[in-house]
Amino acid sequence: PKTDETLSFQAEVSRLLEIVAHSLYSQKEVFLRELISNASDACDRLRYAAITTPELLAGDADYRITLAVDREARTLTVADNGIGMGREDLVGNLGTIARSGTKAFLDTLSGDAKKDVGLIGQFGVGFYSAFMVSREVEVFSRRAGEEQGWRWVSDGKGSFTVSQADDVARGTRIVMHLSDGEDEFLEPLRLRQIVKTHSDHIAVPIVLVEAEGKQETLNRASALWTRPKAEITPEQYKEFYHHAAHAYDEPWLTAHWKAEGAIEYTSLLFVPTSPPFDLWEPDRKHRVKLYVRRVFVTEAADGLIPPYLRFLRGVIDSEDLPLNVSREMLQSNPTVTKIRQGVTKKVLAELNRKAKDDPAAYATFWTAFGAVMKEGLYEDREQRDALLPLMRFRTTKGDDLVSLEEYVGRMRPGQDEIWYITGDDAAALARSPQLEGFRARDIEVLLLTDPVDEFAVPSLGEFEGKPFKSATRGGADLSKVEAPAEAPKPEAGGEGLDSLIATLKLALTGQVKDVRVSQRLTDSAVCLVADEGDTDLHLERLLKQHRR
Ligand code: ADP
Ligand code: MG
Repeated sequence: PKTDETLSFQAEVSRLLEIVAHSLYSQKEVFLRELISNASDACDRLRYAAITTPELLAGDADYRITLAVDREARTLTVADNGIGMGREDLVGNLGTIARSGTKAFLDTLSGDAKKDVGLIGQFGVGFYSAFMVSREVEVFSRRAGEEQGWRWVSDGKGSFTVSQADDVARGTRIVMHLSDGEDEFLEPLRLRQIVKTHSDHIAVPIVLVEAEGKQETLNRASALWTRPKAEITPEQYKEFYHHAAHAYDEPWLTAHWKAEGAIEYTSLLFVPTSPPFDLWEPDRKHRVKLYVRRVFVTEAADGLIPPYLRFLRGVIDSEDLPLNVSREMLQSNPTVTKIRQGVTKKVLAELNRKAKDDPAAYATFWTAFGAVMKEGLYEDREQRDALLPLMRFRTTKGDDLVSLEEYVGRMRPGQDEIWYITGDDAAALARSPQLEGFRARDIEVLLLTDPVDEFAVPSLGEFEGKPFKSATRGGADLSKVEAPAEAPKPEAGGEGLDSLIATLKLALTGQVKDVRVSQRLTDSAVCLVADEGDTDLHLERLLKQHRR
C-alpha cells in the first residue's frame, strides 16, 4: 500500500489554523487542556469497546495520560493508551472537522482576527490548538486491535503527511515541536500548574514523566461527578463543563445531584450561557453523555433527554443499566425512560428556582433557550404544568419579559382572554394597527416572534381558565373591557358607513372574505384580520413562504 501521502486540510480546517496562527490567543496554555481532553475521551472509548471485545486491551487496562518533555529537542509529548487511530481516522479526524454546526459557525466569523478570537475561544479548536505553540506537530497512533501504527505530521500550513510507522504503542502520542518563545511549556512547574487549573477533573491519571524516570501524577484522577459537592470548586465544575460539552462559555446553571431509590444515577448537568452552535440542527439531538458505573457509553442517547431540553450538557451516570446495553436499545429501555423523567422534573424545578431567585439571570436564559423550551408545551403534556410558569413573553407593556402569572394578574377589568399577536419582529408588532383597539383599552398583548409560537401557543388552550386568543382574528370582542377615561373613544358608525362597506366589499370581491365595522381601530382607517377558525395571518404568511 502507498504509505507516504501528503494531503490538504479541508478548507474549514485551514481557516481555523489561520486564525490560530495569526491571532494572539490570550491563553495559549489551553492547548494542553484540549489534548488531555482528547486523550481522556480516547481512554473512555476503549474502555467501552473492551466490554464486548476484551482482546482490544492486549493485557493493558491501566489507562493513563503521560506528559514528557525533551529539553534538547524542545518537544513536549502528550501520550495516551486509549483507542488510538488508524490511517483513515487520522486523515478524517485530524484533517477535517466533522462536528455539526461547525460550518455554520465558521460562516459567522468576520475575518477580523480580534473579534474572531473571542468567538473561537467559545467554540474551541480542539486538536488544532497544538499549533498555537508548535512549529510542527507529529502524531504517532495505533488503533487498539490493529498491528500497524501511523505517523501524521504537519506544520499547520495547509497540508499534512501520513505514513506507516513501526513500534508505535497502542493509543496516541502527540509530539509538539515548540515554536520559538514557547519554552515555558518545557517547565514541569508550569505543566503542573496548567493541569491543576484546567484538567484536574479528568478521571484518568495524568502522569508527568521527568528525567531519570521520575513520575508524578498531577490530577486527582477520579470522576468529578462522584466526588462530594462540597469538595468541588466552581472552577472545577466549569473546566469539567468545557471538557464534557466542548463549549467554552460559563455554565449558566450547574446541577449536580444523586438520585436514589427505585433507580440510581448521578447527574452533573449544565445549562450553557450562550446557545450551542448545533442547537437548531434538524436532528434536535442533546449532547449529554451517558455513563454506566463510571464507564462512558455514548453521547446523545435517544430518549435520555427530551428534545426541548437539548441545550443541556454534562453527564448522567447510571448504576442500573447493563454495561453492554447497545446504543439502539437505549431509547426503549425502561430505566432510560425513568431517568429521563427524573432528570426532566429536576431540571424544570431548578429552572423554576432560578426564575424566582434571580429574574434578571432567568431572562438571559429565556432569551437564549426559550424558543427551544416552548417545544415542550406540545411535546410533553405531562410537564405542561411545570413548563407554563417558566414561560416568558415580550408584551405591549414595556421591555421586560412577562410570565403568564404576571399577565393574568394585571388583566383589565372585564378582560377574560389572554391576547397575543404573532409576527417576526416585536417592535413592529407592537406598532401594528391591529392593536389600536387594545391600546385604547390598555389591554396588554403578548408579542410572539418565535416560529414555534404558532404551534405552541394555540396548543395551550388556556391558562388559569383564561383562553389564549389571537388579536388578529375577526372575533376579537373588546367591548366588555372599559377604556380608560383619557383614551380616545372609537366612534360609532356615522352616516354613510353602510354604503362605504358595501362599496368596499364590491371592490374587493374575491380578495377578502368580508368587510366589517370594528372596535379595534382608533387611528387607522382599516386593518386586515383573519376570521375566527381560519389560519392566523402570520402563519398564513409563513406557510406561503414555504410553498414558494
Ligand atoms: P473534538 O474533541 O471536539 O471532537 P478535536 O479537534 O479535539 O475535536 O479532535 C478531533 C477528533 O480527533 C476527535 O473527535 C477524535 O476522534 C480524534 N482524536 C483526537 N485526539 C485523539 C486521541 N488522543 N486519541 C484518539 N482519537 C483522537
Ligand atoms: Mg477535543
